[in-house]
Parts: sequence; structure tokens; C-alpha cells
Amino acid sequence: MFFTHDTEAALGFVAALADTTPAASDSGDDELTTPAELVALLDAWKYSGRRDGDAAELGEVREARARLRDLWLLDRDEAAAAVNELLAEARALPRLVRHDDIDWHIHATALDAPLARRILVEAAMAFVDVIRSDQMERLRVCDADDCESLYVDLSKNASRRFCSTRCGNRMAVRAYRARTA
Ligand SMILES: [Zn+2]
Ligand SMILES: [Zn+2]
Repeated sequence: MFFTHDTEAALGFVAALADTTPAASDSGDDELTTPAELVALLDAWKYSGRRDGDAAELGEVREARARLRDLWLLDRDEAAAAVNELLAEARALPRLVRHDDIDWHIHATALDAPLARRILVEAAMAFVDVIRSDQMERLRVCDADDCESLYVDLSKNASRRFCSTRCGNRMAVRAYRARTA
């Protein structure tokens, strides 16, 4: 394990959120256009805390999505600056909490803070771990020509190239066809 459990979970959520954009989603559509789609995403990731369920919240989360997608692709030094900015802007205050059946972990915002702010700060805290342990290169975008899906490469030698076996197989077929054409 490279990261703590909560960092891995937070990174997984960021990738899932970013992958609702048309260039990365399975359907090829924007999969975050209604409050119901947001609820489905949050439920799938057991996201705790305040949810307003309105259009304003959805808009803020969509902005957070764009911001986190950009952050994912920055180099380490740029990412450090962006994370600091994010934490300062949200006046993050890290503390250890234990709730539901989850053991001690870090929250840096109150559970009743707006959802988009909690998403940004939780992601920023995960990036703190990634940057400190010098593992930014594990935050990847799929190598397939037509896929911009984000993923965390947790392979031993950081050699994973595709977001999924589906993309890996697709690109292998394409490479084979190109060789035999
Ligand atoms: Zn928690
Ligand atoms: Zn892919």
C-alpha cells in the first residue's frame, strides 16, 4: 500500500468524479448534469456529510470537478502550490475524527460545510500525501487515444498505462491491426 486507506479512497473518488466528463465517461455523455446523478455518485462512494440536492450545489461540484481534473495533471511543484491555495481558500482545519464505523481519519472541514468545499479539501488532503511521498506520477490519465479517464496507478513498478482492461484490450487490438495492415 502506497497511501493510507482514506487517501486511496479520496483519490478514487476524485477519479470517479472527473470521469463523469464526456471525454472520460463510459457513455460518452456528461454524467453529472442532474442532482440525481450527483446523489448516485455520492452514494456509490458512501460520501458522508451535508447534501443540499439543489442546482447550486450541483454547479459548485461541477466546478470542483474541473479544478480537480486540472490538479491531477499538474507536475509536483505546481500541484503543491495549487493544493496550498485550495487549503487556504477553504480555511481547512485538519483534525482526527472517528464516525460511523470508520476508524480515526482526517477531516479538514466540518461535516456541515458545503459539499463542493468538502470535496475540494478532502482531495487536497489526499494530494498532500501524494506530493509528500513523491508519487505524483501515479496519478495518471489513460493512454488510449480516445479516453481521458483518470486513475491511480497502484501497480508495483508504476507501469500501468490504461484506465481499464477494456481500454487496454481496445488499444492492443488497434496496435495489432496497425502492425498487420
Ligand atoms: Zn469521515
Ligand atoms: Zn481508458
